Amino acid sequence: MQHANAEESKTPATAPTDSGTPEERWLKLLEGRPQWTPQNGPLVVVSAHPDDEVLGAGGLIHSWAAAGRAVTIVSVTDGEAASPRRPGLDLVRRDELKGALRKLCQTHVSVVRIGLPDGRVGHYANRVRNVLLAVTEPRMTLIAPYERDGHCDHDAIGEICIALARSHGIALARYPIWAWHHADPGSFADAHWGRFVLSFEGRRAKARAVQCFASQLHPPRAPPVPKHVLSHFERQYEAFIL
Ligand SMILES: [Zn+2]
Repeated sequence: MQHANAEESKTPATAPTDSGTPEERWLKLLEGRPQWTPQNGPLVVVSAHPDDEVLGAGGLIHSWAAAGRAVTIVSVTDGEAASPRRPGLDLVRRDELKGALRKLCQTHVSVVRIGLPDGRVGHYANRVRNVLLAVTEPRMTLIAPYERDGHCDHDAIGEICIALARSHGIALARYPIWAWHHADPGSFADAHWGRFVLSFEGRRAKARAVQCFASQLHPPRAPPVPKHVLSHFERQYEAFIL
């Protein structure tokens, strides 16, 4: 996620405290869009900051792991720039991710942590690409941040994943995070959406996992992430741009 204030971060056009795009407008846009599921193979979910993977694709991760299929999370930064004056936040957020994955999945999910500086991922595109190449397997689906999400790290990773998917023939789906809050649904009318419908267990596990990111939901010296922002991640499905 990462709304705050890293100096090099591109702050999203709308702050989390603003009312943002009402969830009802997205529901209207997404209603009736086709259901989608990844091909039967490994899933690699790339995340800029601990919590993006759970917010954007937690239900999918739950279902995939529950079906006994391989899931790898590539965790690109530890999200320390969310509160630059809070020492040790990187360690806190790494632990939050571990706790969240335990709530999300009963089986083991691999986490490949790159540890790049939060807010500066664009400077390390080769590192990210090389890690992704190392985890690439036949029939895998790459789940990536949306490349125009409005945070510099999300956008950089999205671009890297698009290029890699194209050059290596890898199936790709992208998940918005901040775009849900600040973008206009009208500009996504022509996007190729796919809805991954969540089971009751999937929604419950995702809701519990989201609560593990306490440093982001209830930060000590900043307003908590408000309910209207979280409402985009409580749907009965997860929407991906294919
Ligand atoms: Zn993020």
